[in-house]
Amino acid sequence: MVERVYEAGDLVGVLTAEPLGRLLDYRSPEGGCGTGDFVEVPLGPRRVLGVVWGSGEGKFDPAKIRPVTRVLDAEPMRAELRAFLQRAAEYTLTPLSAMLRLATRAPGLGDPPSMKRVYRLGPTVPNSLTDARHRVVEALRAYGGAPVTLSELAEAAACGPAVVKGLVKLGVVLEEDAPRDLPYPPMDPRSPSGFLGPHLVGDQVAAGDALVATVAQGSYSTTLLKGVTGSGKTEVYLEAVAETLRQGRQALVLLPEIALTGDFLARVEGRFTARPAEWHSGVTMTERRRLWRMVGQGQAQLVVGARSALFLPFRDLGLIVVDEEHDTSYKQEEGVLYHARDMAVLRAAIAGFPVVLSSATPSLETWANVDSGKYARLDLSSRYGPAVMPQMAALDMREEKLPADRWISERLARAVQARIDRQEQALLFLNRRGYAPITICRACGHQVGCDDCDARMVEHRFLKRLVCHQCGATKPIPTECPSCKVEGRMAPVGPGVERLAEEVAKRFPEARLAVLSSDLFGSARALKDQIKLIADGGADIIIGTQIVAKGHNFPLLTLVGVIDADLGLQGSDLRAAERTFQLMRQVAGRAGRADKPGTALLQTYQPEHLVIRAILGGDEEAFWKAEAAERRMAGVPPYGRMAGIILSSPDVAQVFDFGADLARRIDPLLRIGAQVFGPAPAPIARVRGRHRVRLLIKAEKSAPLQAAIAEWLAQFKIPTNLRLSVDIDPQSFY
Ligand code: ADP
Ligand code: ZN
Repeated sequence: MVERVYEAGDLVGVLTAEPLGRLLDYRSPEGGCGTGDFVEVPLGPRRVLGVVWGSGEGKFDPAKIRPVTRVLDAEPMRAELRAFLQRAAEYTLTPLSAMLRLATRAPGLGDPPSMKRVYRLGPTVPNSLTDARHRVVEALRAYGGAPVTLSELAEAAACGPAVVKGLVKLGVVLEEDAPRDLPYPPMDPRSPSGFLGPHLVGDQVAAGDALVATVAQGSYSTTLLKGVTGSGKTEVYLEAVAETLRQGRQALVLLPEIALTGDFLARVEGRFTARPAEWHSGVTMTERRRLWRMVGQGQAQLVVGARSALFLPFRDLGLIVVDEEHDTSYKQEEGVLYHARDMAVLRAAIAGFPVVLSSATPSLETWANVDSGKYARLDLSSRYGPAVMPQMAALDMREEKLPADRWISERLARAVQARIDRQEQALLFLNRRGYAPITICRACGHQVGCDDCDARMVEHRFLKRLVCHQCGATKPIPTECPSCKVEGRMAPVGPGVERLAEEVAKRFPEARLAVLSSDLFGSARALKDQIKLIADGGADIIIGTQIVAKGHNFPLLTLVGVIDADLGLQGSDLRAAERTFQLMRQVAGRAGRADKPGTALLQTYQPEHLVIRAILGGDEEAFWKAEAAERRMAGVPPYGRMAGIILSSPDVAQVFDFGADLARRIDPLLRIGAQVFGPAPAPIARVRGRHRVRLLIKAEKSAPLQAAIAEWLAQFKIPTNLRLSVDIDPQSFY
């Protein structure tokens, strides 16, 4: 892109986050402006944020073109980020304005700097101080002179604000005003000679060296860092981060479920002597603005964030690490439909820096890119220290003959009891929230569904209500059947974690039980506290949904029991086998992470199923090869391309008619050799009162899919109350 400077009065094209489908022409303000400048422009009666994207088109009446209101006091958007937004928009078939919205998700970006009250240590500290006062002094010393706010300081010192204020009165602590958006404390990457960080061992050494060399080279590349859970992948990629910081560049580590990573942040702080900047939905608005500005000024060296951190305006980004790269939460399924792993690779390719994809169970996409030579691969083959991989075995449930309201087999129960006796922990894994997935009337067979969605309602006993997992609607648990009106015959069918907890409590009355399910916790902090409690040994039996699969370290945990290993194998999702394989291996990986060996037991009705055998056998390469061969034969991702078209409307006839219309005029798609399937009712045919219809487009890998879809859709005028979204590389098909 050409960087230009515009004189006052020149025509400029401004991109705004408004859904207008084009740039708007304005006159450059007094003092001029340049490409990439953040500006405020008048739009009708409002003033909106925009970015100078290039020269104006001059298609409007020149007399009516208004001037830019002002150039904001923010770093201009760099060419690299502009090119990335443009390419990401083209790839995902998303309007550029929506991409800009992703890149400006912080409030008051153009506000002039304001002040806030901060604290630091005064010149003299008396020798005798109360404990609380002493902690404040120590906390301030730990900050090394960096200014802190009252609430940060009180938290760090575990005292009330009054203690700090008392010290201010004594002159021990100084109170002053400082700019509101403070730089992040500098991180100490320390070079190999002045060492900091762990001494890598075994195959960690070669992997670490290779990544450091890649970073030192500084050009684009993607490397898969593959290693079993607990093999030290994090330690290894932090060395790549260290090298990036030594180069004076910035690094970004993407994590799934970021809010749960207090553990991770503490670890990074231990390695680099300062806390990294955090970016995710749980971060306050003021903190977001601070991060957004500081990252642009290069005053945040390391950002740890959720997928949207990809759109931050880094001054000089030199590395992206995508941790747990296979994780499904990297695909954003609402608004702009993008996959953070793929977009990380795109940004790196445009800007010219390396990407590291880290996982114990990589996605088949990544595996195939390694296989074809596009990505490099580094392996860590064993767990760090004395920890060994868990023993895995299937429990054949056909032999168990359990009553209909019990889910824990005798053999699993005995294994759990043995752990309790040895004061170790057992985890029972069931990927189903709530009490029971189905509420049925024993008189007429009616199942209670959501009024607005084509979905059954799930009983949540904890909330004492039925909940729709599609739209979140709730209703009381009925005592009378909504259909046949018979009283007292409504019954729960099947287990969720809450019901499993009931069985456990009955069976192991003396055991301390902890349930980990995302919906049971009002806040991320409460969930963090619960995770810490478990890690510290405060529970004997843990029941969890898939949030327990994600990287937590429970040193006392030596048994993982999977209640229903077949659960993910049902359904027609093309990734069902891959997902089950990944999830089961991740969950099993929770067992035996410290010095005691672990065991994973999988309850299954089909122990001879290929996927179950692959999970148990542990011959991963064979599994991936077989899975790859099948997908190649079927011409599906990663060996072919797919796009989903999702139509929804409150009017069922309209949505089907429009879908049929789309399917009738597909010349642009046929020209690239694509196939079109549908329209068909979506698996969940109604959500929030809107009827949903899907079309699926399949094409060869090299086909110019986006251009063809754009040309195809341009033929139609979309009715006002109909919503159409295009999902390139769909991950879910609901
Ligand atoms: P992974 O990311 O592959 O699951 P981690 O990096 O979390 O593995 O390592 C597992 C545990 O082993 C962590 O507690 C980590 O600090 C420790 N560890 C790994 N490698 C080393 C090392 N070279 N020196 C010291 N501790 C290590
Ligand atoms: Zn619903």
